[in-house]
Amino acid sequence: MQHTSHLEISKSAYRRNIKFLQKQLGNETVISSVVKGNAYGHGIENIVPIAEATGIRHFSTFSSDEAFKVYNSISKGSQIMIMGMVHNKDLEWIIQRDISFYVFEFDRLMAAIKASKKVGKKAKVHIEVETGFHRTGFEWNEKEFLLDIVEEHAEYLELIGLCTHYAGAESIANYVRVKNQIKRYLEFKDWFNQKGVHFPIYHTACSAASLSYPETIMDMVRIGIAQYGFWPSQETYMSKFKQLAENRKNPLKRLITWKSVIMSIKEVEIGDFIGYGNTYMAPRHMKVAMVPVGYCHGFSRMLSNLGKVLIQGKMISVVGNVTMNSITVDVTDLKEVKKGEEVVIIGKQKSSEITVASFSESTQQVNYELLTRLPQEIPRRIVY
Ligand SMILES: *Cc1c(COP(=O)(O)O)cnc(C)c1O
Repeated sequence: MQHTSHLEISKSAYRRNIKFLQKQLGNETVISSVVKGNAYGHGIENIVPIAEATGIRHFSTFSSDEAFKVYNSISKGSQIMIMGMVHNKDLEWIIQRDISFYVFEFDRLMAAIKASKKVGKKAKVHIEVETGFHRTGFEWNEKEFLLDIVEEHAEYLELIGLCTHYAGAESIANYVRVKNQIKRYLEFKDWFNQKGVHFPIYHTACSAASLSYPETIMDMVRIGIAQYGFWPSQETYMSKFKQLAENRKNPLKRLITWKSVIMSIKEVEIGDFIGYGNTYMAPRHMKVAMVPVGYCHGFSRMLSNLGKVLIQGKMISVVGNVTMNSITVDVTDLKEVKKGEEVVIIGKQKSSEITVASFSESTQQVNYELLTRLPQEIPRRIVY
């Protein structure tokens, strides 16, 4: 059955983004592709093969259900890391499949040991330490006790990584906090090293940290938003822009394009209200088109009377409220407009473009939120 809209995902854009990022990071640093939130809306099953074709061999998820999806998409030799939620009863499945996971509190540590005993295989763990994010992570004063337990149960645990996460590396407003976090992380690292504990992978950086704080680039970085072609924030882009040599073109390319079609067209008289309620009254004789994309498809209701789409390469305004399944747009000024014509909601058409960032300007919805709210049911097509 046909859907009311579809998403296109560009393979070549992905490859260019990774190339740019790897150049920034240096060749020694492994990129872990963060695919939580259904790969930021792109679809885990789409992104994993595209990433593997680009040489990515490490994937990070938030939870075990996402890890399950990645597991079913990867080819041999790729690794999976879970950074957040794991139900203790999922641990055996995870350990059996060599999936590594964050340990940030004693309950999970003990559960991991127990599950490892049962499975007969070591649990691959990343020790997350509290450096100032104040969400998850072992505290500074827990480290001795932590090490005692880890050493006592060495036969059940394989220490893979020592990690932390920064509280807002995308804004200079958090500069002092991030700098303090880096310092605290290094204190943890030194402390473990002095105790003779060396981790194979030290990793702390997300996209923003990798781009703005080079000292956070270690053995591995966890790249989410940037691989999909978005800057973590306008600020990150601006600060990087100055360093981008030569032509100063944005090196990150959006993968996603969102397209629909005109469902129907009708004319309305001056003074007619369009759609539910009375939020829009026609100020002239108008021609309006229905586009079958609404808030159930991820087109926010906040874009009522605000959103734009592209038809025939022109910026066309949403008139009236965004409804569950559709929007109405003003096509009065288009010469010949027909049912079935292409409508671009995100992306390029002729020489015009609607970016994902433009949504955040009108609705406060950040890139991350808009992308992950795109329903899984919308078909995704891989394009060159
Ligand atoms: C989401 C996440 C990342 C990736 O963040 P981006 O800003 O998308 O690069 C990295 N590390 C952790 C722990 C995360 O939760």
